[in-house]
Amino acid sequence: MPAELIEGKKIADRIKERLKKEIEELKGEGIVPSLSAIQVGESPGSKIYIRSQRRACEQVGIKYNLHQFEEAVSQEELENFIDQLNKDEAVSGIILQMPLPSHLNARALQERINPKKDAEGITPVNMGLVLYGRPVLGPCTPMAIMELINSTGVDLYGKEVTVVGHSDIVGKPTALLLLNKFATTSVCHIATGERGRVPYYVKNAEILIVAVGKANLIKGEWIKEGAIVIDVGINRVEGKIVGDVEFEVAKERASFITPVPGGVGPVTTAMLLKNTVKAAKLQVGK
Ligand code: NAD
Repeated sequence: MPAELIEGKKIADRIKERLKKEIEELKGEGIVPSLSAIQVGESPGSKIYIRSQRRACEQVGIKYNLHQFEEAVSQEELENFIDQLNKDEAVSGIILQMPLPSHLNARALQERINPKKDAEGITPVNMGLVLYGRPVLGPCTPMAIMELINSTGVDLYGKEVTVVGHSDIVGKPTALLLLNKFATTSVCHIATGERGRVPYYVKNAEILIVAVGKANLIKGEWIKEGAIVIDVGINRVEGKIVGDVEFEVAKERASFITPVPGGVGPVTTAMLLKNTVKAAKLQVGK
């Protein structure tokens, strides 16, 4: 039997409906959640992302402010601007759009964001709280992955889970969130790939999460019968967006699978909104 699709869009819509109600209540108390986005230069990728962020914010009632800077902006100028947003009481959340030009130190800029305004949940303080099992503003994509897994009703306790990809923003924090739920978690990365060992870990996985960015890296025939498959990858192939998993074959073996697009992406955006609302509350000690 083909796998059931995990429809990220529907899950995101439910989260947004709840947020919309909460924001109405907050506004009644004089709290107006707002998200300030910083964009440097004009990469086509971030342009699309910004458009969808703005739309999502408007849908739920979050004020969206875009601050654009020239490609040649200095590190100091951006640091001063972040300091200004950190102090501004009207700003609930801050997001620094990636990628940044190579003359800028992206990590230093991200670390400059007040952890209580860290809408993406990527500052060292927020990542550290993930490690300790008590995220406050959690990293958006890993939190979205957990929502998608939860939507299947599976109990993670003791489950064999494989995460392919160990980036700081997706793979590593996802592995920590899974460990916090007592999943038996394996993490694969480029060195696992170089040794040809990725199939071994994939074949073993009752739950598989792939965040690499290489189309069809994971062959459908490697998927364990009945596995849950979360495909985070976004790849453009012949004008179409595809994930990292060979979808057509994988869906015949899995019990649940996320589509690409329409799986992880919309829920990641919903997590950004959720963090912004939480940040607005943190600011007033709620
Ligand atoms: P990244 O480039 O920072 O990390 C890639 C990871 O894949 C690394 O850990 C690397 O070691 C590993 N890797 C590379 N080749 C491999 C191989 N052959 N075998 C095993 N592992 C290999 O990427 P990222 O920022 O984590 O993003 C991963 C993908 O997820 C990208 O396609 C990105 O666009 C997508 N993404 C989607 C969302 C979303 O909301 N849907 C959010 C973030 C990232």
